[in-house]
Amino acid sequence: MRPSLLNPLFAPITGLAGVGPQLERLYRRLLGRDVVPRLIDLLFHLPTGTVDRRARPKLRDVVPGTVVTVEVTIDRHRPSPPGRSRAPYLVYASDDTNDLILTYFSAQKSYLDRLLPVGATRYVSGTAQLYDGTLQMVHPDRVVDEVGLKALPLVEPIYPLTEGLGPNQVRKAADAALAKAPDLPEWQDAAWLSAHRWPGVAAALRGLHRPAEPDDVRPDGPAWSRLAFDEMLAGQLALALVRAHARRQGGQRNVGDGSRRSRIVDALPYSLTPSQVGAIGEIVEDLGKPQRMLRLLQGDVGSGKTVVALLAAAAVIEAGRQAAVMAPTEILARQHLKTMAPLAEAAGIRIAILTGRERGRERTDILERLAGGDLDILIGTHALFQEEVMFKDLALAVVDEQHRFGVHQRLALAQKGAAVDILVLTATPIPRTLVLTFFGDMDISELREKPAGRLPIDTRIVPLGRVQEVVAAVGRAIEGGERVYWVCPLVEESEAVDLAAAEQRFAFLKERFGAFVGLVHGRLKGAEKDAAMARFAAGETRLLVATTVIEVGVDVPEATVMVIEHAERFGLAQLHQLRGRTGRGHGRSTCLLLYKAPLGPTAKARLEIMRETEDGFRIAEEDLRLRGEGDVLGTRQSGMPGFRVARPEFHGALLEPARKDAALILARDPGLTSPRGEALRQLLYLFERDEAIRLLRAG
Ligand code: ADP
Ligand code: MG
Repeated sequence: MRPSLLNPLFAPITGLAGVGPQLERLYRRLLGRDVVPRLIDLLFHLPTGTVDRRARPKLRDVVPGTVVTVEVTIDRHRPSPPGRSRAPYLVYASDDTNDLILTYFSAQKSYLDRLLPVGATRYVSGTAQLYDGTLQMVHPDRVVDEVGLKALPLVEPIYPLTEGLGPNQVRKAADAALAKAPDLPEWQDAAWLSAHRWPGVAAALRGLHRPAEPDDVRPDGPAWSRLAFDEMLAGQLALALVRAHARRQGGQRNVGDGSRRSRIVDALPYSLTPSQVGAIGEIVEDLGKPQRMLRLLQGDVGSGKTVVALLAAAAVIEAGRQAAVMAPTEILARQHLKTMAPLAEAAGIRIAILTGRERGRERTDILERLAGGDLDILIGTHALFQEEVMFKDLALAVVDEQHRFGVHQRLALAQKGAAVDILVLTATPIPRTLVLTFFGDMDISELREKPAGRLPIDTRIVPLGRVQEVVAAVGRAIEGGERVYWVCPLVEESEAVDLAAAEQRFAFLKERFGAFVGLVHGRLKGAEKDAAMARFAAGETRLLVATTVIEVGVDVPEATVMVIEHAERFGLAQLHQLRGRTGRGHGRSTCLLLYKAPLGPTAKARLEIMRETEDGFRIAEEDLRLRGEGDVLGTRQSGMPGFRVARPEFHGALLEPARKDAALILARDPGLTSPRGEALRQLLYLFERDEAIRLLRAG
């Protein structure tokens, strides 16, 4: 259970004055929550900057266009003339050096009479401008009297907003949340804190939400950095706990005689690349150790991870045990089956697939063979998690395209056997820093070179306005017998709208190319999808209009053209993946990135990178630099929780220390029972990494 000290932070924001049910809806949008946001969500919603009201000049010295706070006497009111309510209401004010007109549009006279009584002294803050040689302030941000001035924050945080929520509302809510934040025990090492001059956690939150200086809210400043490090430490601790738990469960040695592997290798129409051989060596060594394997196989699109996974499976099968291969989509699962089945057969390995589509007799049969040990490899989607799926002796779980699965699911699959070894395949080249963040200190194997014979892909950036030229080029390719992908993106929030866009494009292209055009999208039933893919692979259709369902893994060597509409809306990693669907055969391939003009400078830079390089790792690094981590991992689509406070571009360098710190902490205090350990538990709860605490208790 969460420590009660933290409860106020997890109270719903609807408990704050001024946040009613109406606004609650808007706060959900602002804070990105599906359910009622909590105070902590508001407190982690950090300012992007400040308004600095500290300049207090005499009117004579006011620099037009700057924010100032001036002391003035109210001289007279000039309400909008009767019948001309659109004319402004003017309030004339002055100090002993100059005049200032306060201008209000559609203001209530009674309100202004109260706010700015004639003869009174007022402190007025806002941006002053010169109009016709007179200093004016249109709708001052703040008007206070002597008492009010004392309470006026002269440096005000500016928050990201959403339509319908004004800056003052959010500021007040954040301030109210701050007032309820408890003092928390210190979980960071004192020496480390003082070396960085970092404040305590409560002081850090105060510094960010009630800055005294504009610099206080800088992401690279001490307050934000401290919270970022907290978040990273929480993440690294959680990962280390998961890993320690997995390791504690022990592992089994799976030592095979190599017989099946050599039969597979003999059956391959190509020879393995050196990095494939290296990766297999590392995996086989892990499998033979008495500890559990947790290994990430990273390789760019088309680098040949599948055969490495199959050889890993073969190694445990030689030891008389079973393997599972889990893919994120049904198409991919079937693709794996197609690739693996002939090789498996050559090696006498019994393989089957289980998705939502295998039903009835067929399903029962698969499950029986699996439980009875008459199946060696089961390929599937998340259907493999279901309880009815029981292996006789699962030794290895291969998880493809890992980032789409959460830690929970990974563990769930691992529960299906005693001390299951885990091999995670990722086709998204993730920068090393992020590997650490999301996977903890997993062991990593990399496939750096592409299989032989791949030709470079000619990538071009084309405005949507020139779509007719693109269609003409596509026509030439089709006539020449080539295959073309045409990808329509997820544009709107709603799948229905996106589908309509893809269907429209399909209709448009069909008018031109008739029966050569196929369509595949996420709403199709599994069998329909496969049929559409199969027709394309067989060349019955040559132009395949697709939503992003083809994103990963699908292999049609004849595909030489990839058209991506609204390329500016994709993450670079995603574009890279899509482009990698071509360039697999012998023909020279082209990738056309259609964008909607005009492009902003960042969007332009991103597409330029695609044109410049095919190195997935470089693309991932650049994407990280330009957009932040969420998009690199495609987490916006898959909903994997990333960081809320830490920003890789500012805090990336803290990750390694956080990882080391986590390791040190757990080495000294594996049960988190020391006073610092107790405080660290609070940290885990604060950043909602508390599932790891359960593992701690379970021992
Ligand atoms: P990915 O790493 O993207 O999953 P795949 O495993 O699907 O890549 O392999 C992509 C293609 O490359 C497949 O058609 C596969 O048969 C082929 N391939 C794999 N390894 C080699 C190799 N060493 N030499 C030539 N082709 C290979
Ligand atoms: Mg693959």
